[in-house]
Amino acid sequence: MARGSKTSSPAFARLTARFAGAAEAEQAALRAYEAGAVGLEEREDPSGVTLLLYARAEAAHALREALAGADPAPLELGAVEPVPDTDWSESWKLGLGASVISERLVVRPSFVAHALAPGQVEIVIDPGQAFGTGTHESTRLALEWIDRLAPRLATGARVLDVGTGSGVLALAAAALAPVHVVAFDLDPVAAHAAQGNTERAGCADRVVVFAGELGALAAPPFDLVVANLLRSEVLPLLADLALRTRPSGCAVFSGLLASEIERFSEALKTAGFTPTDVREREDASGERWAALLTLR
Ligand code: SAH
Repeated sequence: MARGSKTSSPAFARLTARFAGAAEAEQAALRAYEAGAVGLEEREDPSGVTLLLYARAEAAHALREALAGADPAPLELGAVEPVPDTDWSESWKLGLGASVISERLVVRPSFVAHALAPGQVEIVIDPGQAFGTGTHESTRLALEWIDRLAPRLATGARVLDVGTGSGVLALAAAALAPVHVVAFDLDPVAAHAAQGNTERAGCADRVVVFAGELGALAAPPFDLVVANLLRSEVLPLLADLALRTRPSGCAVFSGLLASEIERFSEALKTAGFTPTDVREREDASGERWAALLTLR
C-alpha cells in the first residue's frame, strides 16, 4: 500500500538491535517505545530477531543509549543512521502510535498505551506482519467512513471487509455497531493476524475471518462492504462486489489516490455502484489518498 514520496530532509533516524529471540525483542520494543521510538520493523531468522527501530532524528541517540543499558541488552546494537529519502515509501510505519480517528474511535497497536477519553472506544491491533494499524491514510479514511456510517447499521446488519489485513476495519465496524462481519484476506498471514485480533477483542462471535478469495464466499448480500485495496487490486473484484452488496446498501472504496478517483468512479458506475461522496487525506509525503462512499 505504501507509496513513494517527495519528502527531502530526513526527519527520522533508524538503528538496528539484535536479540536472541522473540521474547527479548518484544521486551526491548516496549522499552524502545518508552524511550522515544515511533515505529519498528521486526526481522526474524533462525538465529535471532533484529529490530529496526525508528525515532525522530533528534531523539535517536537517547534511544540508542536507553537500549544499550536496558535489560535484556541487545546482542548487537547498530549505529544511528538517518533514514534515507528512498525509504520514505515505508514512512507509514514511522507513524505507529495510537490513532485518534474520531471523537469516539481510537486505534492503537497493542504495544502503545493510550488513555481513553469518556465515550471513546478503542480497537487494539497486534499487526504482526499484516497491514493496518490505523496510521496509513487509506486505513484512516476507511475508518472515518465506518464511523460515519455506523449509526445507520441496524442490529444484525452485515458487513464485508475485503482485504482485512490486521482486521482493523472489521473490528471497528463490530465495535461501533451491533453488526456481523465477514473479513477475508488472500494472505493467510494477514487472516491469521486478523483472527488473533478478533479473539483478543472478544468479537469472534460477530466477526468471521477467512483466508481466501472473494469467490470462495457463499453468503447473502451485505449491507456495507469496505475495501481498502489498491485500485489495481480492487478493479477485478468490482462486478462481484456489486452482486454482494444488497440493493440500497453501501460500499466504501479506500486505498485510492485522489488522482485516480475520476477513472475509478467510471469503473464503479459500470459495475453498478453510484459514487455519492469522497473523503481525502494527505500523507506525510504529500500524496493525496481518497476513499469513496458508494450506494448500490
Ligand atoms: N483492511 C486493512 C488492510 C488493507 S491492506 C486496512 O484498511 O488497513 C490490503 C490487504 O488486502 C492486504 O492484506 C492484502 O493481502 C489484501 N488483498 C489484496 N488483494 C486482495 C484480494 N483480491 N482479495 C482479498 N484480499 C486481498
